[in-house]
Amino acid sequence: MTARPDELSSSAAGLLGDRAYPESQVSYKGTTYWLERSVDGEKRLIAVAEDESAFGGFAGTTERIDGGVRFVAETTPKNAVALRSALSWLTPSRFGLHTSAGFGDRLGLATPGHVRALKVVDAAINPVFAQQSIREMGRCHRTPRNVIDDATWGAFQAGWTKPVGGDADHLEQLEDIDETTAAGFVFYTLDPKAEVDPEAEHADAGAIQQKVAALDWASLESDLATFTKSYVGQRIDLEQHAIELDEESVLRAMAKYGPGIVHAMAMYRRLIEKGTDCEVEFAVDETDYPTKPAEHVVVVSELQRLGMDFVSFAPRFVGRFEKGVEYIGDIDELQRDFEIHAELARALGPYKLSLHSGSDKYSTYPLIAEATQGVVHLKTAGTSWAEALRVIANNDPDLMREVLTLALDSFEANRKSYHLSCDPTKIPADPTDDQVAQLMDRVDSRQVLHVGYGAILEEFKPRLYQVWNDNEDEHYRIIADHFVKHLAPFAPYAQ
Ligand SMILES: [Zn+2]
Repeated sequence: MTARPDELSSSAAGLLGDRAYPESQVSYKGTTYWLERSVDGEKRLIAVAEDESAFGGFAGTTERIDGGVRFVAETTPKNAVALRSALSWLTPSRFGLHTSAGFGDRLGLATPGHVRALKVVDAAINPVFAQQSIREMGRCHRTPRNVIDDATWGAFQAGWTKPVGGDADHLEQLEDIDETTAAGFVFYTLDPKAEVDPEAEHADAGAIQQKVAALDWASLESDLATFTKSYVGQRIDLEQHAIELDEESVLRAMAKYGPGIVHAMAMYRRLIEKGTDCEVEFAVDETDYPTKPAEHVVVVSELQRLGMDFVSFAPRFVGRFEKGVEYIGDIDELQRDFEIHAELARALGPYKLSLHSGSDKYSTYPLIAEATQGVVHLKTAGTSWAEALRVIANNDPDLMREVLTLALDSFEANRKSYHLSCDPTKIPADPTDDQVAQLMDRVDSRQVLHVGYGAILEEFKPRLYQVWNDNEDEHYRIIADHFVKHLAPFAPYAQ
């Protein structure tokens, strides 16, 4: 049974001062909580209860008021823990096969905008507000706990009272597991891309034989003969499609993904040892070549044989999923790819299909929502950051010009590990105010700024945060408008 808040009493609204976020006000087990913003922009938690016992886990100050106690607390990490404990829906929980969406938030400011979008769309889409990859946390100087805590305060501020997830995204090393389990994530995205062998895509038969012979069969708890026998010659009849597993495709699949399977299993076992109540996504979306149907079969079946229990799988789909722009490729081919992978996910699982780098790919959402019948996870990461830059462009064009200059100067370093097709030479070096206003709408500048976040935050963080804090409502409105377009296509299939 999920915890839900109590009805707000008619007297509760009278407690709010004019600095309160009215939508944050919530009553639960006899205590009424809300968030307010002081003159200097600091946010504080206020709570009112009959007596002090409700505030046990928090650190703050209390004062007697008419008929009870008023409590004021800073938005510290300790108080974030206490708030999650008091309002338990704010504690990340597992979503199983239910439709879900991940909203990366590099700044720790965007969650109230994400909540607004969810409220507008009003569908059974389960949100993961706390989601960041280890790579991004490093570039943004955030800890796993920062990611969880910022999402907690943001969800509370915007009055989200349904379950939330928490995705430790794109974990690649064993140590990444240690760092993130302590913070309270419940969804772990295991990404063995460094161990996936791209050479196997085009290697000749002899080279493939050598690669599979050299696999770590002990860790795979099998041997080549057993493996070959269990797949070669099989035919998998799906709803609309059939997959023939011939020797060539099976061995090539194992040559390519075998080392990744070994590594992912090591990460998985490390995770299970921690005893964390969690679910797992297996992701190969950032590898070099699309995941073929036979590869999907072999990878998933081998992981299952080795005991990995995963709730979603992120293959690399056909075409190009670049940061912050529409899908690049043949949309009919992508639709067929979604259908085959979705049929496989139903036949071999069920598990969710996960669509990564999912932001701004508007043409793809209705297709994957339908193909999966809502058994899907949409993962967006940097698009909230890109949209936040609109607030800078709108309110401080000079700062935006400085940001652009830095993003261009540092582009070659920033672009590493991202799929991009932008041409920086097409961006005006000294843009007019009108051109500044369009930077986030043009592919070249959008991508250059999209991947520049590390360098940009390093240099301009205090000035940027000042603009975002001074224009908070505009920021939330921009984020909400952007995400309504992402979520609405999933609504008819959300479950
Ligand atoms: Zn990804």
